[in-house]
Amino acid sequence: MTYASTNPYTGDVLKTFPNASDNEVAQAIADAHAAFLSWKKTPFSARAEIMHAAASLLRKEVDTYAKTLTLEMGKLFAEAKAEVELSANIFEYYAQHAEALLAPEKLPVGNPAEGKAMLVHDPLGVLLAIEPWNFPYYQIARIIAPQLSAGNTMLLKHASNVPQSAAAFEQLMRDAGLPAGAFKNLYATRSQVELILNDSRVRGVALTGSEEAGAIIAAQAGKALKKSTMELGGADAFVVLADADLEKTVKWAVFGRHWNGGQVCVSSKRMIIVDEIYDRFLERYTVGVAGLRAGDPFDAETTLAPLSSQGAADDLKDKIRRAAAHGAKATEVGPKVPNRGAFVQPTILTDVSEENPARYWEFFGPVSMLFRAKDEEDALRIANDSPFGLGGSVFTSDVKHGAEVAEKISTGMVFVNHPTMVKADLPFGGIRRSGYGRELLGLGIKEFVNHKLIDVVDIDAEF
Ligand code: NAP
Repeated sequence: MTYASTNPYTGDVLKTFPNASDNEVAQAIADAHAAFLSWKKTPFSARAEIMHAAASLLRKEVDTYAKTLTLEMGKLFAEAKAEVELSANIFEYYAQHAEALLAPEKLPVGNPAEGKAMLVHDPLGVLLAIEPWNFPYYQIARIIAPQLSAGNTMLLKHASNVPQSAAAFEQLMRDAGLPAGAFKNLYATRSQVELILNDSRVRGVALTGSEEAGAIIAAQAGKALKKSTMELGGADAFVVLADADLEKTVKWAVFGRHWNGGQVCVSSKRMIIVDEIYDRFLERYTVGVAGLRAGDPFDAETTLAPLSSQGAADDLKDKIRRAAAHGAKATEVGPKVPNRGAFVQPTILTDVSEENPARYWEFFGPVSMLFRAKDEEDALRIANDSPFGLGGSVFTSDVKHGAEVAEKISTGMVFVNHPTMVKADLPFGGIRRSGYGRELLGLGIKEFVNHKLIDVVDIDAEF
């Protein structure tokens, strides 16, 4: 594993970074632990000032931060700017709400002999974040904003293809006034990750990434008896009912499947359309996808970004080939994507039978699987027939009924008349092979705190 920035549109290697030395890793753990001992006592108001400062710096230099994202992993510049803003919103959210979210709670005990019981939420210590490249800043913000606000300190092992984004965020937090050692980016090797997890001063790990990496890190954390959260892959169902507004639905389907180059854990990867409108949907969706324009991600006219690397593009093409070899019909759509750059031709997969293993795969790029459902019940059956359970959506003109259908979809997040949305004030996370735990809101900040009971049983004393 080499840490290197390679522009996926030009293929140019922009910068490489040496792996961390073992001494650097040991020092980072020691520094993070030392920082924790004072950071945990720092008042919420002082921590909030730093979160505010990080948000302001991001907003002030939005173009500069966004440029690094587009250069390093190829996302459209407009989407990169939106990611910077989203990250700022997350810092603001915890600046405003962390103290209230972690306020001590009096427990309603039934019997006075049990005393006056209260739950306090203490930080755990040093945590490790392992993050993927698809939203290089947002993924970091999603974990460090809550956990630093809670009083924990953080080490980061970011994806090896976004080292400049990782460095930019470390510098951001320093510039925002975070004490030295409280957040450190490490170009760590896999064995160093294991070493970090086994250090007694490190109290937990949050990973966002693939099922494969999740299974390895969850096992390592389990062996070391460390708390872990796993935000893994997804294959969101996009259920279209007979009464859906077709024009609006198709617009969201094209967006939901292709934003961020189709490389989103909550992309609308499986479109499940009831028989009555399947043919009309397929026809319009094909036209919509064909209208995407692949090209330079800095060009405002471009609507389809390259994938994050040539390797990712090659892997995806291979997956399409294998899905077709198992009997799926793979239809390439739209004008030919440029030869230069890590592009994959938008592809629609139909006739993906129950026996085709591709039915259960995650396609990370511009590949749409379309399923014809007999009726609503059959659509729900297909939606729930997935190893994943991250996001999902239902499209219908009857929003009340949409909410009822949403209740029947077995997943972490369901939206009516919108693809799965990512916001600072909505929770994020899934079930089954999409992982466990939640990020954002009170759910996220409480993942790595000690929910400690303090019970004053001396019932005569005032409390
Ligand atoms: P990945 O290969 O699992 O990488 C994610 C992170 O884990 C990277 O930092 C990677 O480092 C590290 N990693 C991988 N194997 C490791 C190991 N054995 N030991 C220590 N670290 C290890 O995932 P990806 O391909 O970058 O990202 C795409 C996947 O992430 C998709 O499945 C997507 O759905 C999922 N995702 C989920 C969410 C969510 O919130 N649920 C959000 C975004 C993405 P290296 O780069 O050095 O290998």
